[in-house]
Amino acid sequence: IAEEEARERALPARTGDGHSVAIGGNVNNPDQVPLALDQGAEGVGLMRTEFLFLERGDTPSEDDQYATYRAMLRALEGRPLIVRALDIGGDKQVAHLHLPKEENPFLGVRGARLLLRRPDLMEPQLRALYRAARDGIAPDAPRGKDAPLSIMFPMITSIPEITTLRAHCDRIRAELDAPDLPIGIMIEVPAAAIQADALAKYCDFFSIGTNDLTQYALAIDRQNTELAPEADSLHPAVLRLIRMTCEGAARHQRWVGVCGGIAGDPFGASLLAGLGVHELSMTPRDVPAVKARLRASEMSELRALAARACDQEDAAAVRALEGAAA
Ligand code: PEP
Ligand code: MG
Repeated sequence: IAEEEARERALPARTGDGHSVAIGGNVNNPDQVPLALDQGAEGVGLMRTEFLFLERGDTPSEDDQYATYRAMLRALEGRPLIVRALDIGGDKQVAHLHLPKEENPFLGVRGARLLLRRPDLMEPQLRALYRAARDGIAPDAPRGKDAPLSIMFPMITSIPEITTLRAHCDRIRAELDAPDLPIGIMIEVPAAAIQADALAKYCDFFSIGTNDLTQYALAIDRQNTELAPEADSLHPAVLRLIRMTCEGAARHQRWVGVCGGIAGDPFGASLLAGLGVHELSMTPRDVPAVKARLRASEMSELRALAARACDQEDAAAVRALEGAAA
């Protein structure tokens, strides 16, 4: 039985009518890669690099980071890896960075906003990534969605943020004579979802961070336990933002992933696939159930289900569709 389960986990998430959804694991260090692959992850859709900073008492050097990214590439043996640039601020505070205290850290200098203000953090990270790409990627490696290494920027709210960050990537890549890497952005602020068609021109892919997108769309602090039951990523308003993101990406032939918590929920994953999401990245232990659910589905039905979900009046009504569909 164990063998049968392992064989099942390794199967692709392909629906009955032949549509495949790529499945990644959310993995923060090379030691976690084997477990994620064993669960059936096909790559890493989100490496949260803030953990490299949180797990130690000082700032990792460019060489420290290079070693970690090289080890990730080695562990993945050519499978896709999406490294998210440092997303500090908000709930993730790092004492040794000495960041000013803010009244509303979730609305403050976090993610891309911090990277743009702190070249001492951005430069070594981008240099470490391009060095890892130069030394660790085969010249004939696939490009696009299957690229062995992609960079993703968190908390993007505006076009100048991504064009500036992209220019830094281009400069550093040229300095190091490194290969070109796909550059994506997190869609986790409503402004970015609404403007997805414009943002898509300036990046290679989107990954929707539903944890923050839900927080910012519903104005519920993601850490507030009192309001946790209301902070549902399947709220129709959030689903409509996801739909807008997919439509904006499609206009420029960009692919869309989701790396927030709802990607690891089988019903949530079904809706996301129906909305047109191409890749789902999740906690590795959630992979088998999501794959099994998608394999048991027809994409034509998921599209209809997702359309109905967007038309519901509240999250409870969306969730009630699960029983109705079964
Ligand atoms: C998200 O916001 O959904 C996300 C994946 O990023 P994080 O949880 O690290 O903020
Ligand atoms: Mg986030």
